[in-house]
Amino acid sequence: MLTNNLGYPRIGSKRELKKACEQYWSGNSSIQSLVQTGRDIRKQNWELQKEAGIDLIPSNDFSFYDQVLDLSLTVGAIPKRYHEVILNKGNSELDLYFAMARGYQKDGLDITAMEMTKWFDTNYHYIVPEFFKDQQFKLFSTKLLDEYHEGLRLGIKTKPVIIGPVSYLLLGKEKEAGFDRIDLVKNLLPVYIELLKKLEEQHVEWVQFDEPFLSLDLTDKDKAAYKYVYTELKKQFPKLKILLATYFAALQDNAVLATSLPVHALHIDLVRSPEQLKTVLELIPANMTLSVGVVDGRNIWKNDFQKSLVLIKEALEKVGDDRLIISPSCSLIHSPCDLNLETNEDTLTPEIKDWMAFAKQKVYEVVVLKQLANDEEIADAKLRANFDSNENRRSSKLIHNPVVKQRVACISSRDDQRASEFSVRQKLQGESLKLPLFPTTTIGSFPQTAEVRSWRAKYKKGDLSLAEYDALIERETAETIRFQEDTGIDVLVHGEFERNDMVEYFGEQLAGFAFTKNGWVQSYGSRCVKPPVIYGDVYRPAPMTVRWSAYAQSLTDRWVKGMLTGPVTILQWSFVRNDQPRSATCTQIALAIRDEVVDLENAGIKIIQIDEPAIREGLPLRKADWQNYLAWAVRAFRISASGVKDDTQIHTHMCYSEFNDIIQNIADMDADVITIECSRSQMELLDAFADFKYPNEIGPGVYDIHSPRVPAKEEMVFLLEKAKKVIPASQLWVNPDCGLKTRHWDETKKALTEMVAAAKVLRESV
Ligand code: GLN
Ligand code: ZN
Repeated sequence: MLTNNLGYPRIGSKRELKKACEQYWSGNSSIQSLVQTGRDIRKQNWELQKEAGIDLIPSNDFSFYDQVLDLSLTVGAIPKRYHEVILNKGNSELDLYFAMARGYQKDGLDITAMEMTKWFDTNYHYIVPEFFKDQQFKLFSTKLLDEYHEGLRLGIKTKPVIIGPVSYLLLGKEKEAGFDRIDLVKNLLPVYIELLKKLEEQHVEWVQFDEPFLSLDLTDKDKAAYKYVYTELKKQFPKLKILLATYFAALQDNAVLATSLPVHALHIDLVRSPEQLKTVLELIPANMTLSVGVVDGRNIWKNDFQKSLVLIKEALEKVGDDRLIISPSCSLIHSPCDLNLETNEDTLTPEIKDWMAFAKQKVYEVVVLKQLANDEEIADAKLRANFDSNENRRSSKLIHNPVVKQRVACISSRDDQRASEFSVRQKLQGESLKLPLFPTTTIGSFPQTAEVRSWRAKYKKGDLSLAEYDALIERETAETIRFQEDTGIDVLVHGEFERNDMVEYFGEQLAGFAFTKNGWVQSYGSRCVKPPVIYGDVYRPAPMTVRWSAYAQSLTDRWVKGMLTGPVTILQWSFVRNDQPRSATCTQIALAIRDEVVDLENAGIKIIQIDEPAIREGLPLRKADWQNYLAWAVRAFRISASGVKDDTQIHTHMCYSEFNDIIQNIADMDADVITIECSRSQMELLDAFADFKYPNEIGPGVYDIHSPRVPAKEEMVFLLEKAKKVIPASQLWVNPDCGLKTRHWDETKKALTEMVAAAKVLRESV
């Protein structure tokens, strides 16, 4: 029996890589020092895993930016526009790499970055490979070989990790018409063969091929590509031990395919799908080794050894200990690094901390599970301790709140319905709000300047009292209200200056949430996020935003829109408890938000926005599971929104996303107004709403807030005219694409002035 890890976090336990990259990018450090930081992190990670007792230690899981981009460079999939960067004297391979990741503006060149998108259903983002017809590949970067050698020099024979050719092609995009990227597999495979030959010369034993697409819906062509690739590799390398890694979902209908591929070992995710063990054990051929992913790579909870052992023993019985590998469910890059760094007992009490495990702890869990499976006595005490922690968690008063459970049980079918249907509400809201045609508004946040952030930092350090901090936030809010009045915006916002982050701000005020100091997880490149931990039943002990909204409303005769984050987004951007279904946790959050909505209404706020930018990213990987998710997600939103009277107007907001295939569900959310990101697609995203004849009001974003560029009135008039052709004027709002927190004040002022002018042009034209 072997222990295995699929990948270790590469950001460094104190985010060393983030700091080193950012210093290098800003020109404040040398490439040598960046490269050295990478080397230090790899050494630490390898030694840590070796010390823990992991047999198959991954290499090439390190990356300066992204593992998919690493592979693009490895196989020479470098779009033409970067060729000049290569030719430019003085640029290293790493400079080319960062140019592809981040764009390049230097030496008279202005080259855009490659696109980035989400890695399956995680919050990690990868750089999308760009494919062209008849594309040829060649071994360009030797990173994988170099890191394997580096390990050897340290006395560690690693297991190089590479994304398999089929998943790599499927992760990319065709950049011209007239071909199917999967057809490039024949051109691509020779580079893999060349790499493996070089590895074999260095006596490599194991290579991990990540093929997560085996857990997704595949076409016949994709399946044929899998057969072709792994049959060829077997022919060329009969002795090489390929570990084919699948994760994030069950193999389902691809189980037959996966178990029929001629690879040495297959890895399956038993955290996401313990049920698939039975199927796989029935299908697995007698010469195939099975890697069971029993330690959750995606969450922060301590493993339940008893539960894992049931699965391990079941596998053991069938395949025997020489054909069994114990692993985390997926790469640990989705976990924070080291729980031992959490020493602040105010944010994370020892009791809660005892229920948790980060990457380092998970590596040890894998090893202990092997000892337990082998009935080694030294593990007995660890089993008992693990049992106690989990037992304590199961029964803790911190987690279980009978009032919350009772309230959830009593939700009636009326609680997720507004009193009247939209047409009735629209009329009542029109009468009470008296807004002009094409009402103007913003999405919520105004610039979070360095100054605003410094107040919060000072307050947290104790250098500002709460009263002093609040006074500064009030001043900023008041100025923002005045600015919006002067600009002639119709529906104002308070500006969200009091918020650090749209989820953390609410989490900090809700019961059932805990926070970490160092629980960073890579989101993309050098960017990391620190998701809150939802450990217990969620409720709202006291109003969260009423003070700021009411204050802002007291300063003006215009309507101020209350601003909340929705239940699905709070869930999606947190580490969620795993002792009840996600839907149950989401419903609890929905009730807490509902309480806030009702309190805002009672405080005189007539328009309330509940942001749900993360609805789409919560979609399961398999289409067959979508409607189940959407049903509870939409219901949660409706519960949060339905406690108010008909003439209170509920808005929601979603960022850039495809709406076509979920438009019915968006309509089912029944927000009175939805604002969406639209400008970069030139209003094309609006077509989904038009084709569907979306009945409620819509604010398609008329300018891109991700860029400092100030759009002219005419551009926005053009977009609005376009929108007006497909959506009735009586349904249209005018607003930017998203919140303005990352923008500067001067751009913001100019852009919003132009936006209000554009709305006036449209009003005059009707
Ligand atoms: N109200 C939030 C803001 O304006 C919405 C942010 C988002 O959609 N991601 O910043
Ligand atoms: Zn947004």
